[in-house]
Amino acid sequence: WKSLDFPWTKKLEANNRKVFGNHSFRPNQREVINATMSGCDVFVLMPTGGGKSLTYQLPALISPGITLVVSPLVSLIQDQIMHLLQANIPATYLSASMEWVEQQEIFRELMSGSCIYKLLYVTPEKIAKSDVLLRHLDSLHSRGSLARIVIDEAHCVSQWGHDFRPDYQGLGILKQKFPKVPVLALTATATVSVKEDVVQALGLVNCIVFRQSFNRPNLWYCVIPKTKKCLEDIDKFIKENHFDDCGIIYCLSRMDCEKVAEKLQEFGHKAAFYHGTMDPLQRSYVQKQWSKDEINIICATVAFGMGINKPDVRFVIHHSLPKSIEGYHQECGRAGRDGLRSSCVLYYNYSDYIRVKHMLTQGMIEQSPLASASRRNSFVSNDRVFETNIENLSRMVSYCENETDCRRLLQLIHFGEKFNPDNCKRTCDNCSKLLTWVEKDVTDIAKQMVELVISTGKQYSTSHVLEVYRGSLSQNVKKHRHDNLGLHGAGKHLPKGEASRVIRHLVVEDILVEDVRKSDIYGSISSVLKVNESKVQRLLSGKQRIILRFPAPA
Ligand code: ADP
Repeated sequence: WKSLDFPWTKKLEANNRKVFGNHSFRPNQREVINATMSGCDVFVLMPTGGGKSLTYQLPALISPGITLVVSPLVSLIQDQIMHLLQANIPATYLSASMEWVEQQEIFRELMSGSCIYKLLYVTPEKIAKSDVLLRHLDSLHSRGSLARIVIDEAHCVSQWGHDFRPDYQGLGILKQKFPKVPVLALTATATVSVKEDVVQALGLVNCIVFRQSFNRPNLWYCVIPKTKKCLEDIDKFIKENHFDDCGIIYCLSRMDCEKVAEKLQEFGHKAAFYHGTMDPLQRSYVQKQWSKDEINIICATVAFGMGINKPDVRFVIHHSLPKSIEGYHQECGRAGRDGLRSSCVLYYNYSDYIRVKHMLTQGMIEQSPLASASRRNSFVSNDRVFETNIENLSRMVSYCENETDCRRLLQLIHFGEKFNPDNCKRTCDNCSKLLTWVEKDVTDIAKQMVELVISTGKQYSTSHVLEVYRGSLSQNVKKHRHDNLGLHGAGKHLPKGEASRVIRHLVVEDILVEDVRKSDIYGSISSVLKVNESKVQRLLSGKQRIILRFPAPA
């Protein structure tokens, strides 16, 4: 897809320069454009700031007809349209909150033979609820004027993702109605299973996937134990490392945002708070002050950040535990868009885990704007949503409690990406610890783990297998009679964390496979450990040794 020999290449390059003012393409932009212009269905995973918009706006400009863009938030749509109009590209949108007369006007223009619009943005609700819109799309299509369908923030389709949005699930209708119109699905965050879910729900056919590394080499990650003096620690951290720099501090509750901002002001910082219950005028005032550097620190819930393109955010601090690794990765991703070194610091203690879990149970946590609609019209039972949230949260806790493995590796595994920790180059706390390491042959432990997975029928989660291996006598272990297994308790004398490191390593090496799947019609997820038959024999027959590094005892 890199080729410069497509019929549209010249036009593409000229418009990229003249209309969008770009000198070249960023990684994967040309490839995505060539694939969608060739009529293929395409799924694009590109980090925030990677330049996803160009991959559909440029094809829209040089293709005959109209490109339909489904985008989750009216505020994002308005922002996009403002940029398009500035570049003299005619675009418009339809949303449920628009006056009927105004909508009629847009439909009339769409139906006229000389329609000026190249892009029509709609919210997902509009597709789900407006027969009128579907009728007009039908009519556009029958005249050969529906060039392409774009689904922005496509991960919202999946119930396994962290921003599930029920209205997105109805978007499969577009492919059913217009099977020949190419669909382009875009997102900055998706695990392998979320991607598969999206492809299936949208009905994409022979879909071409472009996936960029989620690694952000200029971001420096660390987890710091959270104490009662956390705010003093944050103050010191900023003054020592980021004096007068711009940053975001993510807090759990609205009250936390206000308290943290107030304390930082006392310490002499230009800080303000931002959360969902402030009135919209106040929110946009704070956001503007921050964009203009009149305030340099925003203490916010996850309601803050979508569509924010400030390039010089030098630090993102998490004052409490994020809800999921995907959410954490995305929030951190708001730092260092200009490619310069930036810090991502997470303050963690176990009692925050209990607090977040409690707040999740009560539905008290402010959601990102993408997901917030899901609470209102979700058909997914609350139990299922809760289970998914708890699973996501416990993965986040394991991340925080891990004091040995490379942070990048831990994040990237989650997105199904392989990463060699030698390439971290001491840019995370674990890799930069001044520890001496010893190598240990853990082949026997690895074999026992694999045997345990096989003997329990390859149908239990990692945490269950670990429980059995450590000799737990929990109700769950007894219920399945796993306390009777020969390997029950085989790992009980191992140092804390060693068995789980071995399992993680086996997953990274693809010897064990974590099969995350929907366990019922409600979309509850469960992850089951399986073995990779093609690789496991080498280990069991003694042909492969497993060696891991551990910190040397002091
Ligand atoms: P995303 O949607 O992936 O977060 P955007 O589409 O908003 O990213 O693009 C981020 C920024 O990068 C925008 O300011 C955009 O103008 C700029 N950009 C996109 N493509 C290019 C390019 N080829 N050359 C230079 N700048 C680009």
